[in-house]
Amino acid sequence: MTFKSFNPPERILMGPGPSDVSARVRSALSRPTIGHLDPLFINMMDEVKTLLQYAFQTKNEFTIALSAPGSAGMEACFVNLVEPGDKVIVCRNGVFGDRMIENVIRLGAEAVVVDSPWGRAVETHKVKAALHDHPDAKFLAFVHAETSTGAVSDAKTLCQMAQEHGCLTIVDAVTSLGGIELRVDEWGIDAIYSGTQKCISCVPGMSPISFSPKAVAVVQNRKTKIQSWFLDQTLVMGYWSGKGKRTYHHTAPVNSLYALHEALIILHEEGLENSWARHRAQHQVLAKGLKELGIEFIVPEEERLPQLNAIYIPDGADDAKVRNYLLEHYNLEIGAGLGAFAGKAWRIGLMGHTAKSENVALCLTALKDALN
Ligand code: PLP
Repeated sequence: MTFKSFNPPERILMGPGPSDVSARVRSALSRPTIGHLDPLFINMMDEVKTLLQYAFQTKNEFTIALSAPGSAGMEACFVNLVEPGDKVIVCRNGVFGDRMIENVIRLGAEAVVVDSPWGRAVETHKVKAALHDHPDAKFLAFVHAETSTGAVSDAKTLCQMAQEHGCLTIVDAVTSLGGIELRVDEWGIDAIYSGTQKCISCVPGMSPISFSPKAVAVVQNRKTKIQSWFLDQTLVMGYWSGKGKRTYHHTAPVNSLYALHEALIILHEEGLENSWARHRAQHQVLAKGLKELGIEFIVPEEERLPQLNAIYIPDGADDAKVRNYLLEHYNLEIGAGLGAFAGKAWRIGLMGHTAKSENVALCLTALKDALN
C-alpha cells in the first residue's frame, strides 16, 4: 500500500470552532521541536503564563495551558475542586451545562440543576433561589458563552451572587476568552477553563485554565485524593511552576505551545478590548446582512454572542445540502445545530482571526447563493 501526504484545502472556518489559524501562528507551529525541559522552552512557557494572565485578566499564579482540549479543562476544574458528597449548583442552558452535570455525577457529588431555556442566558433569579435553598452548596458552575445556542450569560452577576453565598465559581470560558468581556479577578471567578481553538485562533488541543488562590486552597485542603492522575493540578504545577526546578509530569505539546505563544502575542498586540470590539463590530455587520436575507436569530439581541451566531434554518432549505454547498463552492464551513437545535439551526462562528469583514461579506454572499 502507498500513502500520500494529507494536504487539506484552505477553508474559511465559520463554524463553532476551530476558527481560522493565521499564517503567523502556523509558521510558529512549524519551528524546530526542542526538548520540553530545554531552558529556552521553559522561558517561553513562562511567557505563555503571563500572556494567559493578560487574556483572562487575572493575577492568578495558577494560570497554565493544559495539554488537552477544552473538555479536559472542564474535567480538571471539577476533578480538582469537587469531592464526593459535595453539592454543586450547575446551570444548564445548552449542551455544555449538561456536560458539567455529568462531571459532577461521575465524581460522586450532588448536582443541583438550574435549567434555563435553550437559546437564552442563564436566568439569574433561578440561580439566586437555588443558592438560597441550598446554603450547603460549595460551588456554582455555569457556561459563560454557550456555543450550542449562541447565548451569553451574565458572568459578573452570577459570580457576585455566588460570593454572597460563600460559593466558589467554576466557569466555562471556552468560547468567551478573547471574544467578549471577561474579567477573572474583577468578577471574582475561582476556576475557569477555555480552549485554544475559538477566539484565540490557535490550533485545537490545549486548554488554558486559571484557579484563584481560594480555589488553590480548596485543592490543597482536600480530604480525598484527586481521582485523575493526569489532571491532578498539584502535580501539573510542578511542571508549569515559574520558580525552582521543573519536574517532568508529561511531555508537553511543544510545537502547539509555540503556536499558542504566537496567538497570544497577536491578541496582546491587538489589545483585549480591541479584540472584543472587533468581534462585536463584525457580528453587527453579519446580523444586518442576515436580516436582509430574512434569516432569524435564535437568541434575543441583548443575550447574543457576537462570536457565535445561531440562526434558524430558513423554511424549505435543506440543512446538510446547504452546508455542503458552502464547503464545495466557497470553501466555507458553517456549523450545524447541536442537541435540541440539531436540524433546526445553523451556527455561524466569528471567532478570533475569522472575525473580519471579508469573511462576513463572503458568508453573506455564499448563503444568498446557496439559498437561491
Ligand atoms: N465548552 C464549550 C462552551 C465548548 O464550546 C466546547 C467545545 O466546543 C467545550 C466546552 C469542549 O471543548 P473541546 O471540544 O476543546 O474539548
